[in-house]
Amino acid sequence: MIEPKSPFKGEGYYDFIISGAGCAGLSLLLQMIDSKKFTDKKILLVDKEEKNKNDRTWCFWESEPGLFNSIVFKQWSKLWYHDNVYSKLLEIDPYKYKMIRGIDFYNYCFDIIRMQKNIDLQFGKVENIESENQKATLTIDGKKIASDYIFNSILFKRPELKKQEYYLLQHFKGWIIETDCSFFNPGEATMMDFRMEQKGGVTFVYIMPFSETKALIEYTLFTENLLTAGNYDEALRNYINQVLKIDSYKVVDEEFGIIPMTNHRFGSAYNRVINIGTVGGQTKASTGYTFKFIQKNSAEIVSQLIRTGKPFLNKSSSRFHFYDSILLNILYHRKLSGPEIFTPIIKKNKPQDMLRFLDNESSLTEDLKIISSLPILPFLKAAIKQL
Ligand SMILES: Cc1cc2nc3c(=O)[nH]c(=O)nc-3n(C[C@H](O)[C@H](O)[C@H](O)COP(=O)(O)OP(=O)(O)OC[C@H]3O[C@@H](n4cnc5c(N)ncnc54)[C@H](O)[C@@H]3O)c2cc1C
Repeated sequence: MIEPKSPFKGEGYYDFIISGAGCAGLSLLLQMIDSKKFTDKKILLVDKEEKNKNDRTWCFWESEPGLFNSIVFKQWSKLWYHDNVYSKLLEIDPYKYKMIRGIDFYNYCFDIIRMQKNIDLQFGKVENIESENQKATLTIDGKKIASDYIFNSILFKRPELKKQEYYLLQHFKGWIIETDCSFFNPGEATMMDFRMEQKGGVTFVYIMPFSETKALIEYTLFTENLLTAGNYDEALRNYINQVLKIDSYKVVDEEFGIIPMTNHRFGSAYNRVINIGTVGGQTKASTGYTFKFIQKNSAEIVSQLIRTGKPFLNKSSSRFHFYDSILLNILYHRKLSGPEIFTPIIKKNKPQDMLRFLDNESSLTEDLKIISSLPILPFLKAAIKQL
């Protein structure tokens, strides 16, 4: 059942405003369109950018084809894990590790959105979002627009942290390189390679090969502060030369990104404003993975809207939030290195169980099995602190 018309409706009033046309805004809108249940609703999508740049690539795993399967750029079912003394090739079937390029995602979504008569687009800077009793308003380039609900994915300011809340940065620089000779196996990606200095905090490289001669190589850190631009380049050069032993290659593209890793509880909704995406708490604090959580959250919002006319969801289980907080505590205080945390999990568990755990989809018994593979003492101390 869809909610009855609001008393404020009229020219320039929307049923829904989607504030931010990034991963969360576009995923939600595409799922609304796909359901065909909102064709009589007036929807406004706003962003400050026209989304015509390949500003990121999303990697995630899933066992079934998702809504965006037709634009998956590349996928792998074998993933390498390396530290200085241990290597393992993880066979993750029925999961596939998938990559979607930002530009393909934006083009695909906007092509569909532009065909919808009930959806308006506006490009400009959102200055403010407010919620009153029966409507929500958004100020864009000085102009106020009202709607029944606003779905917001814009972070207006960094959150103020409470006790035992952490805010680490997952920051990475990636190069797409082309080698002269065949070097990569396009059927096997590298999820985590720790064969490098760990003194600044958890530091690893992941590799997504597109062909035998072309791959994305991403140098990644979980730390409080960023490096200088030159530090990332130097680390990438060293890794390619010393670990991969490639001396002849050219860099054909690059990306830089920062993902907040925080156990801060972003409010998921206040009155008529519903936070989505990273701002809605959809970034997993301990890994930075967000894409799949956004898809699940969008599907839940759409189904709730169709069933009740309202977009509010029940609070999700805090069990996984607690696990994430413990890991953030360990990372923040540098109690263990990356390999000390991840190698035991990889060694002692099936990759499918680990992926389900990272998806927040495992049962308590399955969680205990994964947790029991970790070094007990530091995790126990961190757990007591977080409690
Ligand atoms: C480079 C990079 C790579 C990533 N890779 C992965 C990955 O491989 N796997 C994964 O799961 N997650 C990944 N993430 C994390 C996460 O999936 C992305 O950050 C994702 O885009 C988050 O979606 P979102 O909608 O919350 O934010 P965004 O996609 O950033 O969307 C927010 C939108 O709001 C707009 N906006 C911001 N301020 C304003 C304003 N004042 N007025 C108007 N518009 C505004 C922006 O232009 C943007 O379009 C990556 C993040 C980055 C930065």
